[in-house]
Amino acid sequence: MIISSHMVWGYVFGKATARFQTTKPNLALLILVGALPDFDLFTSQPYGTLFGHHGISHSWVVIVLISLPFFYVFGARTLPYFVGVLQHPMFGDLVANHIPLLFPLTLSETGLNLSENNPTVEIALEIIGFLLFLMLFISSGDWKMQLPRTKWTRLWLLLWVPPLLLTATQGFLYYEPDLLTQIYSAYAIFSSLSLLVTCATLAFHSVR
Ligand SMILES: [Zn+2]
Repeated sequence: MIISSHMVWGYVFGKATARFQTTKPNLALLILVGALPDFDLFTSQPYGTLFGHHGISHSWVVIVLISLPFFYVFGARTLPYFVGVLQHPMFGDLVANHIPLLFPLTLSETGLNLSENNPTVEIALEIIGFLLFLMLFISSGDWKMQLPRTKWTRLWLLLWVPPLLLTATQGFLYYEPDLLTQIYSAYAIFSSLSLLVTCATLAFHSVR
């Protein structure tokens, strides 16, 4: 699953969790957390190694352990963000690819691997996530939400940019003549550029 899809599904799951809470999550952080495990792409370590892509950053055990201090300090307000990160490996990558589900027992990977077994369904799942994001983001009025004017908000928004630029670039570079790959590439470019526009919109509303 590409990074923009992880971000939109993180938002959808996080919003569903936040429905039962009185405080609204910071959107800049909520959408960012869905991308966090894939920052392992910037470590330039080999795939599947401890610090490489799909290494410890994709382990639910590691995510739970890192989240514990946040639950201790911020209580239930942590929950939407926690769900937003956890859905990345436990929903997106487990369904689309495979993850080190049994880490720290082993780094070997488990998953449905739909991206190879049934790529049409897998791509549909990513596009559905994006459509759900658009629907929720617009209907809830989140697109015009004024974010807290703090350096943290600016940092969260800034961190959206490298993974989205990476995804957009891959969409341009990953050319294959078959129709499904072309649809996927177009979706990768469109979804990541849309999120970059969303990032700019939220930034505009938070500095005004
Ligand atoms: Zn991932």
